[in-house]
Amino acid sequence: MLTGHVSMTGESRAGWRISESVQPGGRPPAPGSLALVQAFVNSYYDLEISHGADLFATPAALRSWLAAHGLITPTARVTDVDRERAIAVREGLRSLAASTGGDDRPALRKLNAAATGAAVELRFGGRGPEFLPSSAGGVPGALGLVLALSACAMIDGSWARLKVCPGVECGWMFFDHSRNQTSRWCSMSVCGARAKARSHYRRHKEASP
Ligand SMILES: [Zn+2]
Repeated sequence: MLTGHVSMTGESRAGWRISESVQPGGRPPAPGSLALVQAFVNSYYDLEISHGADLFATPAALRSWLAAHGLITPTARVTDVDRERAIAVREGLRSLAASTGGDDRPALRKLNAAATGAAVELRFGGRGPEFLPSSAGGVPGALGLVLALSACAMIDGSWARLKVCPGVECGWMFFDHSRNQTSRWCSMSVCGARAKARSHYRRHKEASP
């Protein structure tokens, strides 16, 4: 991968960090820098500390998450507009990974509006190029990095393995490590089992007059 100079949990040369993230069903997270994109998209539902909380619920919460991942400084100014923009990027990427609808879907329009003016920088070294948040700082720089890493994954093909769980009220982004890329649910034992129970119930109901 173009930007894969980080281990599954580690720090890039540019200083941004991928922390070890909890995944439903014990799935391994996405490899390399794609784990940062995955964690960003899955920030809508905290699995680690405050179960189910939106980690971008307030500008201060967004700042904490971005600072914890080395994407902005802990004292950076984060406004409501920044938060709306981060959520537009998050939900636009989820919509792209779920590949539902055409190019005119609202989530994609919002993503492209949020991407306008987001900046990223490149550094070059013996191990290849690396992206880092714009030195202008702030949320637009952090979003620029997330967008650049996503675009790289789309170009190198690894994006196709990022899937969005279709479970009712789920939407978790998981990385399909299976050889044939046939995984459908974030966790067979959670969303898969629920869907199975629902279709069993429906069949049973239709069978009985
Ligand atoms: Zn699910």
